[in-house]
Amino acid sequence: MTDWVYGFGAGRNDGRADMRNLLGGKGANLAEMASIGLPVPPGFTITTEVCTYFTEKGGAYPPDLKDQVNAALARVESAVGVKFGDATNPLLVSVRSGARVSMPGMMDTVLNLGLNDETVQGLAKASGDDRFAWDSYRRFIQMYGSVVLGVDHHRFEEIIDDAKITAGVTEDTQLTAQHWQQVADEYKRMVADVTGAPFPQDPHDQLWGAIGAVFGSWMNQRAITYRRLHDIPADWGTAVNVQAMVFGNMGNDCATGVCFTRDPSTGENIFYGEYLINAQGEDVVAGIRTPQPMSEARAKPGERSMEAAMPAAYAELVAVRATLEKHYADMQDIEFTVQSNKLYMLQTRNGKRTAAASLKIAVDMANEGLIDRTEAVRRVNPGSLDQLLHPTLDPKAPRKLLSRGLPASPGAASGVVVFSADEAEARAQKGEAVILVRIETSPEDIHGMHAARGILTTRGGMTSHAAVVARGMGRPCVAGAGGIVVDYAAQALMAGGVTVQAGETITLDGATGEVFAGTVAMIEPKLSGDFETLMGWADAVRRLKVRANAETPLDADTARKFGAEGIGLCRTEHMFFDPTRIAAVRQMIMSETEGGRRDALAKLLPYQRADFVELFRIMAGLPVTIRLLDPPLHEFLPHKEEELAEVAESLGADLATMKRRAADLAEANPMLGHRGCRLAMTYPEIAEMQARAIFEAASAVAKETGAAPVPEIMIPLVATKKELEISHAQIDKVAAEVFAEAGTTIEYLVGTMIELPRAALIADRIAESADFFSFGTNDLTQTTFGLSRDDAGKFLPFYVEKGILPKDPFVSIDVDGVGALVKIASEKGRGVKNGLKLGICGEHGGDPASIQFCESVGLDYVSCSPYRVPVARLAAAQAALSGGGDRTA
Ligand code: ADP
Ligand code: MG
Ligand code: MG
Repeated sequence: MTDWVYGFGAGRNDGRADMRNLLGGKGANLAEMASIGLPVPPGFTITTEVCTYFTEKGGAYPPDLKDQVNAALARVESAVGVKFGDATNPLLVSVRSGARVSMPGMMDTVLNLGLNDETVQGLAKASGDDRFAWDSYRRFIQMYGSVVLGVDHHRFEEIIDDAKITAGVTEDTQLTAQHWQQVADEYKRMVADVTGAPFPQDPHDQLWGAIGAVFGSWMNQRAITYRRLHDIPADWGTAVNVQAMVFGNMGNDCATGVCFTRDPSTGENIFYGEYLINAQGEDVVAGIRTPQPMSEARAKPGERSMEAAMPAAYAELVAVRATLEKHYADMQDIEFTVQSNKLYMLQTRNGKRTAAASLKIAVDMANEGLIDRTEAVRRVNPGSLDQLLHPTLDPKAPRKLLSRGLPASPGAASGVVVFSADEAEARAQKGEAVILVRIETSPEDIHGMHAARGILTTRGGMTSHAAVVARGMGRPCVAGAGGIVVDYAAQALMAGGVTVQAGETITLDGATGEVFAGTVAMIEPKLSGDFETLMGWADAVRRLKVRANAETPLDADTARKFGAEGIGLCRTEHMFFDPTRIAAVRQMIMSETEGGRRDALAKLLPYQRADFVELFRIMAGLPVTIRLLDPPLHEFLPHKEEELAEVAESLGADLATMKRRAADLAEANPMLGHRGCRLAMTYPEIAEMQARAIFEAASAVAKETGAAPVPEIMIPLVATKKELEISHAQIDKVAAEVFAEAGTTIEYLVGTMIELPRAALIADRIAESADFFSFGTNDLTQTTFGLSRDDAGKFLPFYVEKGILPKDPFVSIDVDGVGALVKIASEKGRGVKNGLKLGICGEHGGDPASIQFCESVGLDYVSCSPYRVPVARLAAAQAALSGGGDRTA
């Protein structure tokens, strides 16, 4: 017999934390918390397998489920000592969804289930509190009505608003038992009206209605969208948790709250969170009343901390905090309720955090001995480091403050104001930077939040939907900016007498909560000591070296600062576009004789030499891979007629000759044309000039600094062994000349890029003439797929969306095809030359999944853009820790 139902609490825990696939994260952790002695109200979890069954069988349940639920419910009844549906003292339950990973698209929780016209009377008597009973009943009708029966929540709010007007009060808390009773009656009438059926009175009908709604919600649009954005398979399913209610709304010795065991924004080791006295469930996140801080240290004037208001329960919670962190060895996001000064734990999970917090928590926990250093290295998502390396507002920049809200998710962003998620998505797709402005956000807005650079809400706290989701996505967010009025109809926001229309620019500072009119200048981030610490730990375990793709001194400097161990790709053509040089470059291209070309190249030589001198100085003693000229020559020619005329004049040539030459050079398929080493075959003097510049620079820097650089000269687009042999010989000849002139010898390597399938397949023969291989996976991807990078934008996104390709192969290496070629070439190359140096210099060199692949095939280094260097260092460490196994599968 299959167990479809797992009990937890009151001494019976069928589940464990590592059973989240079956029980969902919430259910597994409720059982785990109960099993380590924390106060968890008893309940049971209906497994994710039931969800799968339900989805596949069109809404049917396994035949034996009902009996198992009844048995589990009976156990809860006896544990609590009251009965479900009992007219004098009813058991009430919550029905909660919970998938393997927390999913905002899922069905909202239904609380107080089991109340009806009869049991509400019993609850009133048993609790001795009429108001509480009727408030609970109307909450139940409202939640069940909107969540399960699909009645628009505004319909309920209207009824409360009317009740307040009639009673002449402004706050919910001022309504009496009678008022709530009237509201409950109105609710029932309205629900019957809208749904055409009376509000369900039988508690068992209510229970099965709620269970079915949770399972049904797995396939709703919000959940599907969320899963698509987060790569969550549909067959995971959700579990349903049914749990005895505890009441935070039974008076002033009751409360409910949400907190983190450390600050999820900064990672600081302080107890962080919000709570509300005399409130239930979602009140904290819904933003109806302003939540209060947990600790006295964080309380501002006028606020009442939980520490001050309920010291006993607070002390207990502080102890729970320590127990949980020790048990899970990670920062926890917890939900609790206090009923009559007694603490109950309702949820725990690993807390979402910003990149900065993730780093700080990992380093702190390793220092505290909760985890070891390699675990700390594993804990930080390499991709998230990107966020730490991104700009913040320049403190000196002029700015005009519009308003202020809560600093809900750090980082700064400027963009045009949009008021709907759909518009955010539409405008972002056109390349615009947008700021999504909402009164509050809900799971339907996820796609717009994803598309936006930043998010601004006027309602809700630090744990509101907007705040939590933005932190998870790494988007800057200012939440609860109550001083801003949003008028959706007018498509405008008003703050302090200023009106900002949709389409105008604002700037958010998610670290301070400030909102500014217009654009504010930003600056590069300063990295914390924790960053260096973690990087040091990562460096200690990684095997792959990390280099940078850089050609300017600025890039090279940045790369060094981020810990690059050399340059893996210096694209020399980038050095030719400088206005002071382009004339000589064009003269070389235009000239139809070798002599003319040599004259022009002689002018370029000092520039190239100076470029390399600078790079060698910055990279003192580190390897620098210099790729000889790669693009087809016509890329250096202007396109417009008048520009061509200008060039003609400066060269003293006539326009007609210019045009003819330009036409001669034009190609139908430049990517497959006269480029790479093919240039060196036809115009050897270009490669000779570049080689001379490299060797002269290297000799000069060696003399100057005593630290001789090791130039690695790289020949692009080699398809045959002969090409490399010829190029190699040219370079050796120049080297011998320069060393004779300089009276020194410099160590150097000559190698090739492997970027054509043919080169990969005959890599053993090519290796005979190569000192190293560097995989140029951008071109290798183009040529393997026969797919032009410049044209793929028209269909690649569609391929990825439809699952024809799992990922964009230009972003993350195609392990099966391109990767196979890399593997073949590596093996063939090293078969001929044991220990042949191997690296990668395509965009993939900075992509964590691709780095994992590089580790698995035993490359020596990866090379990526300077800002990706820290990402690559961490990813390389994680790849080494995982033993080079294939994580991309
Ligand atoms: P979510 O996944 O959206 O956080 P939960 O299932 O955790 O949804 O429920 C939301 C809130 O409802 C909880 O934080 C808690 O305050 C309240 N809640 C859930 N179950 C109970 C219960 N058995 N007793 C009291 N409150 C509950
Ligand atoms: Mg919720
Ligand atoms: Mg919860």
